[in-house]
Amino acid sequence: MIRTEDELRKEIVEVGRWVYERGYVAGYDGNISARLDNHRILSTPTTICKGMMTADDLVIVDYEGKKISGRRNVTSELAMHLLIYKRRSDAQAVVHAHPPTATGYAAAGMALNKALISEVVLNFGCIPLAAYGTPGTPELSEALLPLVGSYDAILMANHGVVTYGPDLSRAFFKMETVEHFAKISLVTELLGRQVLLSDAEVDKLLSLRAGYFGPGTPAVQRNAICPVTESVASVGTASLAGNGARPVAGSGYSLNERFWVSREDLEAMVADAIEGKAK
Ligand SMILES: [Zn+2]
Repeated sequence: MIRTEDELRKEIVEVGRWVYERGYVAGYDGNISARLDNHRILSTPTTICKGMMTADDLVIVDYEGKKISGRRNVTSELAMHLLIYKRRSDAQAVVHAHPPTATGYAAAGMALNKALISEVVLNFGCIPLAAYGTPGTPELSEALLPLVGSYDAILMANHGVVTYGPDLSRAFFKMETVEHFAKISLVTELLGRQVLLSDAEVDKLLSLRAGYFGPGTPAVQRNAICPVTESVASVGTASLAGNGARPVAGSGYSLNERFWVSREDLEAMVADAIEGKAK
């Protein structure tokens, strides 16, 4: 459905309210944009609360980020939006925010990349973590560049989240799903137990994407880290946990990491170690 400029202005104002009311941004944080046509993008301006905008606060810019019209100034985070529109012809709208749980993962240096929830795998494959880049500089776009083609939602290290979709509401819903999934992931980490889907289950879900979301949907190929599946998570920990319970592993391993180990496995490990020494 093609939307008029007036409709898109109203939708951006509404999505701004949703983002603010749900606590995904504080103060002037975040920005929202939509494609008007092949030459122009409608965007939220800088230094404005996204929950308190009116339709005439928005600015129109070209694909180089130059302002075409609007009384307010252009946001310094526009480059991230421009990159996404250039690399993803299917993206009609972009939402950037700092939802606290997902941003917490980004600040902990952890991707939301575990195959924990089937619908999240279906929707995103996984939500990768882009390297840190100073906001408002080309560093940020460079960090996003390798991920934009394959993923619809990206965590930005020590910063926040960006999502995009075929219209404003779907770009926003992706943001909502990312934050919801971050909360679920956090609960599994608090419980100290995660049961990940298998490679076969993940492949089945990824093969359904085009049917669910249309032929233009980018194919997400499962790789070693996106999403992390049962077989991948068990690498190096296979003998450490039984009955489907596995240690909670972050994106990296630290010396302080805690493992569960059954008595039987522990005895076998000790026996192995002693035997190794005796040799
Ligand atoms: Zn930001």
